[in-house]
Amino acid sequence: MSTNVVIIGAGLMGLTTAYWLNAAGASVHVVDSAPGPGLGVSFANGGMLTPSQANPWNAPGIANYALRSIGAEDSPFLIRWAAFPRLLRWGIDFLMNSRQSSYRRNARRNFALGSYSLARHREILAATEIECGQARSGTLQVFRDLPALENAFAIADFLSRDGLVYQRLDRAGLLAREPALALGRSEHVGGLFFPEDDSGDAYRFCVGMADYLVRAGVIFSYRTSVNSLEMRGRRIRAARSDNGPIAADVFVIAAASRSSTLLHQLGIKSAIYPVKGYSATIRGFGDVTDLRIPLVDMHRKVAITPLGDALRIAGTAEFTGMDESIDAARVAMLLRDAAEIVPGLEGLAPDRITSWAGLRPVTPTGFPLLGRRGRNLFLNAGHGPLGWTFAAGSGRIISDLVMHGRHELAGHELASLAISAP
Ligand SMILES: Cc1cc2nc3c(=O)[nH]c(=O)nc-3n(C[C@H](O)[C@H](O)[C@H](O)COP(=O)(O)OP(=O)(O)OC[C@H]3O[C@@H](n4cnc5c(N)ncnc54)[C@H](O)[C@@H]3O)c2cc1C
Repeated sequence: MSTNVVIIGAGLMGLTTAYWLNAAGASVHVVDSAPGPGLGVSFANGGMLTPSQANPWNAPGIANYALRSIGAEDSPFLIRWAAFPRLLRWGIDFLMNSRQSSYRRNARRNFALGSYSLARHREILAATEIECGQARSGTLQVFRDLPALENAFAIADFLSRDGLVYQRLDRAGLLAREPALALGRSEHVGGLFFPEDDSGDAYRFCVGMADYLVRAGVIFSYRTSVNSLEMRGRRIRAARSDNGPIAADVFVIAAASRSSTLLHQLGIKSAIYPVKGYSATIRGFGDVTDLRIPLVDMHRKVAITPLGDALRIAGTAEFTGMDESIDAARVAMLLRDAAEIVPGLEGLAPDRITSWAGLRPVTPTGFPLLGRRGRNLFLNAGHGPLGWTFAAGSGRIISDLVMHGRHELAGHELASLAISAP
């Protein structure tokens, strides 16, 4: 008899977990409160698949930066007063992880998961022929000051021992790699090129994956909110939903920031904080820029990614609780920052721009909550700013743990670090 698995969440994590479990012979039922797949934080993200961005946000020195960000409306990193007091406990852990040793350790395990995941992602695309505008053009990080560039070289150098491939670029090298940057107003002093990164549209992937899984026999229940998990002894018996209880042998929580609510009810403290980010999408951008390589401007932390016929601009990190509303001033700031790199964005008719906000589920380590948590409960949540990058590998790890009690990364040098739960 096949193992029955209920997955809570039809975002990138839930769908990739469903894919691997289905391939391994499990009977899978995916439940989501939304009316379709990929409508949560996976909907309009930056589109980058970047093991290269393995270093977590909380680099040494973040404490000063974080303090300056409280109430700083013009900063890409904004902490609103409303975020307190819930932020306090999480924030202390976040700062504790900014020590050089933790930072480097977390960067290494992110890189291990990111590289593993990108390989699994390419396998999925080859096997399913899902069309999501996947491009293998590498990515760029561009810098406006030399000390920041030197810092980035140092961390890339450190990760190159684990296999990160990168090229150092001075300004001339940068413009030769991406000539469209010459038109920008921002004086980039140089950058790094990561030839092994990819990009693609996460929402198109989710829709393609859900279609594929329906054909493969996976059951989907949309518009179905899971309100709690019903225990019998030490096992979970059913997911209690709006539409009644859903029983299974195994349960996977892949509900991003909302995973915390379900976990708290079970007495499990989880350290996921929702950090709001924004994106703006411009369709048919040929008249706006010739940019071809997805890039991140590290000074203003803005990502610009060509995704098929669309240009996606993404960024900002706002600590404001579970608030998903779109603040027009934040979108305007994002577009202003991007326009310094892509001047064609200035004066663009508003009806060409689609704005969006989503809550990145961020842990204090920058590494997701990935693994077994209880007899028949598994977690696949908390992938923060790297969920598109981490999705295919995280799903595979959970599937391997459910079906075989072990996972492939176990042979990795970072095995003891690679899997964590709250
Ligand atoms: C602005 C921005 C840019 C980003 N750029 C990138 C990038 O370039 N590269 C990258 O790798 N990552 C990026 N990310 C991060 C990435 O998008 C996320 O980490 C990833 O989408 C998380 O996927 P998920 O499946 O965990 O969450 P989701 O997609 O949110 O899926 C969770 C699902 O669970 C459902 N759910 C929640 N609670 C319940 C419940 N109780 N019952 C039923 N259903 C429930 C929700 O409806 C949702 O559909 C970005 C994020 C943002 C905000």
